[in-house]
Amino acid sequence: MRAKLTHKILAPPGHLKATLAMPPDHATDPGPSCERTAAAQPTVELQAPDISGWRHGNTGVDHVHLFDSGRPGPTVMLQALTHGNEICGALALGYLFGQAVRPLRGRLILAFANVAAYARFDPADPHPSRCVDEDLNRVWADEELFGSRDSVELRRARELQPFVDAADLLLDIHSMSEPCRPLMVCGRSEKNAAYAVALGVPGDLLIDTGHPAGLRMVERGGFADPASPKRALLIECGQHWERCAESVAIDTALRFLALTGVVDASWVASRLRSTPLAGQRLVRVTEAVVARSPDFHFLVPMVGLGVVPLAGTPIARDGDHVWRAPYDDTVLVMPSLSHLLPGNTQARLGRFEDTTRLVAGPVIG
Ligand SMILES: [Zn+2]
Repeated sequence: MRAKLTHKILAPPGHLKATLAMPPDHATDPGPSCERTAAAQPTVELQAPDISGWRHGNTGVDHVHLFDSGRPGPTVMLQALTHGNEICGALALGYLFGQAVRPLRGRLILAFANVAAYARFDPADPHPSRCVDEDLNRVWADEELFGSRDSVELRRARELQPFVDAADLLLDIHSMSEPCRPLMVCGRSEKNAAYAVALGVPGDLLIDTGHPAGLRMVERGGFADPASPKRALLIECGQHWERCAESVAIDTALRFLALTGVVDASWVASRLRSTPLAGQRLVRVTEAVVARSPDFHFLVPMVGLGVVPLAGTPIARDGDHVWRAPYDDTVLVMPSLSHLLPGNTQARLGRFEDTTRLVAGPVIG
């Protein structure tokens, strides 16, 4: 049996039915880390950058830039602001523009996605600017993109779709509503998780079960096809507005550019803010905690990637129903009450797996 280190928590003592614990074998490198305990009110430490200077790119689509080296190589896309209040991605792209990043081979696309939502960002009330009409990261199925339904986000997704579909390698930069260590969402795809292992960051990788509400960009087309050489990763850089999310976003973007080979590794190395991690852990999501009632609250601290050691431990009360840990060392993935509604996913549950068993799939030839 594995020894456990108790994870610091802030919650009413009477609320603690389970001890959240972290395995001691977690990667030890400090790097840019967003580990912190749950806070009642997140503060906005980051300043949302002015992106108006990058509105007019060279693609005919606002806020989308394409740099072509003129030499053979993959098409790499970095996207920020899929969600309008996740400003660390915009800071990372701003950093790359400031460093005059250019591909040495292949093509590089830099895109600010939901700029309409971002224009509404208000640090005094930062949650609503996640989107305007609907979640931009649930509309990437062909039936939505090429269907007749209309919304601000669908219109933007239709503008972005040719670039997304042209990309061989995609990094979508996000952050989380609750405090949590950085986390790489690899969709349902082992090949993407294997690519995150090659990337070397962050310490925690996630294979999940998708979102019933709609297809995410990283699951579109070849990105989710095990037989395709395309790869897509979604980095969650930490809590939306904490300072270290910016460093994580920049560092991950730089490492991704180096791994794809479109940018010279020495150019990247001189700009990195962290050293390689000692190891990574894979969490495989097995089920979602979908609220059944408006009377839903967690019985364990709402800390992302917290571990509930014992199977059967009550996790959440949901009206008359009690959600329990399905197995020992149940990992709480992105627990949140920010969007509490019956039918909404309030958390996902997963278990640790060995990264060495991942199937990497074909590579770009
Ligand atoms: Zn997001």
